[in-house]
Amino acid sequence: MMTRRPNAVIAISIVLAAALTAVAGWVMAQMREDALASARAAAYNMALLFERDTQRNFDVYALALQGVIDAIDDPRLTELPYDLRQSVLFDRSATARNLGAILVANASGDVVFDSRGAPPRELNVAHRDYFIAQRDSPHTGLYVSHPMMARDGPDNATIGLSRRLQKPDGSFAGVVVGTMRLDYFRRLMSGVEIGAHGAVTLTLADGTLLMRRPYAPELIGGSLADSALFQRFEREQQGGFFGVGPVDGVRRWFAFRRVDGYPLIFSVAVAAGDIYSEWRARAWIIGSLTVLLDASLIAFAALLSRQLRRRELLEDELRALAGTDALTALANRRAFEARADHEWLRARRSGQPLAVIMLDVDRFKLYNDRYGHAAGDAALAAVARSIGSHARRPGDCAARYGGEEFVLLLPETNAAQALAHAEKLRSAIETLDIPHADSPNNVLTASVGVASTSASDFESWRALVEAADAALYIAKRAGRNRVAAWQPSFAREHHSAGPEL
Ligand code: GH3
Ligand code: MG
Ligand code: MG
Repeated sequence: MMTRRPNAVIAISIVLAAALTAVAGWVMAQMREDALASARAAAYNMALLFERDTQRNFDVYALALQGVIDAIDDPRLTELPYDLRQSVLFDRSATARNLGAILVANASGDVVFDSRGAPPRELNVAHRDYFIAQRDSPHTGLYVSHPMMARDGPDNATIGLSRRLQKPDGSFAGVVVGTMRLDYFRRLMSGVEIGAHGAVTLTLADGTLLMRRPYAPELIGGSLADSALFQRFEREQQGGFFGVGPVDGVRRWFAFRRVDGYPLIFSVAVAAGDIYSEWRARAWIIGSLTVLLDASLIAFAALLSRQLRRRELLEDELRALAGTDALTALANRRAFEARADHEWLRARRSGQPLAVIMLDVDRFKLYNDRYGHAAGDAALAAVARSIGSHARRPGDCAARYGGEEFVLLLPETNAAQALAHAEKLRSAIETLDIPHADSPNNVLTASVGVASTSASDFESWRALVEAADAALYIAKRAGRNRVAAWQPSFAREHHSAGPEL
């Protein structure tokens, strides 16, 4: 029971450390989710903002173009002089701040009015996509053209927004087109915080890139139609997902929105690295602290359990010492008496015989005198080992009874068995061959007395021990180095006997 305690301390500390780690892990996972959620919200809001601003501007352009169409359709216009017609035509379009020039072209593409000056510059727009689209279909509505690169550098690239002019019979009469510098979108995109590796793109519905942040003029006008990302934009009106940028290969969270009513798609992308960079820094701190705490917890538990184990060993030792004879390592007399009490009751209950063997070393005083006390101790230890090896069965108990006297307690042993056992023991001691010059045998020997409850009724284990002692006395008297078994007649003899020879 006791030895489990140190292990329990370690087990508990490991469970606690695991719980701590689990909680820290859960907190970090939550933080990571929060980081993504706020990045998603920010990207979504930006896309919405771009969409709203763009939509409002395009609505204003559409109105401006409508104003021109309305004025052209007014029959009174033809009666005015050219310069007045010019100012009436572009009257309403003056409010469109971001709109560049507004041109009116006839059915063959020749520019007939130019908001920037009268008379108009000589220009034919029949090859422009905004002209062709309106010419070929009466249902095009407001058309947003592909980017038109300016001669004076990519920064002045424009798109054209065209409307169809038609005669009362519905046939094509030309176009009115307003130009718009793409720089407007560049300024729109540059005003928001998207992280170090964020990206914003604006494409036409067919995938043509109009503007991008980070700004890359060489990409404007190119098509993203083949990218998996754009195909995903195409399928949905709006949404968000993780994807890899088609231009730079950076993994980002993409939020995209179509501009309602116009063929434009905004996408705002926040780089995964930016989303998680702050989280990663915090996760490192929390993670290291957790590991540190775990380690100190377990280290503390290990220390505590070592202390506990030490104390248990000490306690075991003390307990053993309390019942053990220091010189011979056999049980001491007190331990023997406790065992004798126990075995006596057990033998009573089971009806099994209980035997006691008493042993006394012969002429040990002389041995000490000749060889010295230290040699005497060594000889006693050797004899004790021999005695110990004759107490092998469970319940057997070998003890130092005092001085050079030993006792063996043998449960379930009758007189005959005890006698045989004692004889083996005596012979074993003799064959230790410990020289003893002052003994007739020249080696150290012992005398042995045996008594068993199988031979007679004893009223207590003390009476049994006394009987064995009496038998030992007989053995001594009979010449030593021999075994004697107790017989009822000894009792009298023992008491009446004179001093030992
Ligand atoms: P016998 O039993 O054969 O009649 O003779 P004996 O000399 O053994 O008898 P006695 O009981 O008179 O002497 C026992 C001696 O044992 C006395 C003591 O000096 C010695 N003795 C007892 N305990 C120890 C011990 O722990 N160490 C040593 N070296 N000697 C011990
Ligand atoms: Mg003695
Ligand atoms: Mg003796």
